[in-house]
Amino acid sequence: MTAASAVSAASAVSDAAPSTANPLIASSAEGHRRILTGDRPTGPLHLGHYFGTLQKRVQLQRQGIELMIVIADYQVITDRDRADRVAEHAENLVLDYLAAGVDPDRATIFTHSAVPALNQLMLPFLSLISVAELSRNPTVKDEIAHSRQATVSGLMFTYPVHQAADLLFCKADLVPVGQDQLPHLETTRTIARRFNDRYTPLFPEPQALLSEAPLLLGTDAGKMSKSRGNAITLGADEDETARLLRGAVTDNDRYISYDPETRPGVSNLVLLIALCQDRDPHAVAEEIGSGGAARLKRTATEAVNEYLRPLRTRRAELAADRALLREVLHTGNARANAIADRTLTEVRTAMGTF
Ligand code: ATP
Ligand code: MG
Repeated sequence: MTAASAVSAASAVSDAAPSTANPLIASSAEGHRRILTGDRPTGPLHLGHYFGTLQKRVQLQRQGIELMIVIADYQVITDRDRADRVAEHAENLVLDYLAAGVDPDRATIFTHSAVPALNQLMLPFLSLISVAELSRNPTVKDEIAHSRQATVSGLMFTYPVHQAADLLFCKADLVPVGQDQLPHLETTRTIARRFNDRYTPLFPEPQALLSEAPLLLGTDAGKMSKSRGNAITLGADEDETARLLRGAVTDNDRYISYDPETRPGVSNLVLLIALCQDRDPHAVAEEIGSGGAARLKRTATEAVNEYLRPLRTRRAELAADRALLREVLHTGNARANAIADRTLTEVRTAMGTF
């Protein structure tokens, strides 16, 4: 068993574990046409993004599926007052995408704030979902718990509907995302279904494609997140990577084993090694065995630094060309606007509005 086949073990922490019987989760990319996924421009991408979704985006693009990437800049102000250095973060996301292998000539990379027709879809979509349904979303609840806000804004509460607009404006049918996105995708599918039933069949019900690491943990053994100070970024240098991994939470049991449910911190480091070396996490754990947390962390550092070396080299080269990064966004925004204008016209016709 390699890291790839350890999916169910890694995601056993969720009651939404991948299942081919679950229509929300695709078992493969077969039969799908267009992917959309995205990231908030709140900071540089980390290993959770890479193994949770970015690696899959690149693989699917190479298989010939059309790739759309939304830089979700309005989503930044869901859990903070201001979008701090948002343009700079957006450019750095483009940098991370290109360094990871996304082909900008074939992908559409855009910021949703620059696509007015996309945002207008949110109004009819809001009418298709109830407040009770929105308030049950477990990811939003978790994000509210970690947010820096004293109160919950209307945008925080309704951003899964905005995300439905991100997905449905381009009629994406496959979404390679981490586990935290599954409740949002369920909202999108509900909205698509209700729109199709109430007006005219226009929208697909997109499916999630989960990776081998749908929930990579950070150095504090909680979800690795840009905003929680627990991430190892793709662009970090080798010494910083070593320092961060040395500080990762493990446990007191000296013997290393792979058991994500009872030993989340240790198992996450084992999984990280397995992902970087394309190996079975149980075999990795066995090899380290009585070497303890110190050996586990040393091995993880070497594995991550070695795996990311080519990506980091490309990233450093591309970082010098800010004009290229901006150009990728301008082109992507123009393409996204053309698609969104077409979809909005279809929606207005379906609804019988002017
Ligand atoms: P923030 O803290 O600002 O919310 P984030 O680290 O959660 O940042 P997002 O931009 O919210 O990152 O998420 C972008 C994509 O990356 C989503 O598809 C999400 O599922 C995926 N992702 C984020 N963190 C992880 C993780 N730790 N493991 C697997 N996938 C992840
Ligand atoms: Mg997030």
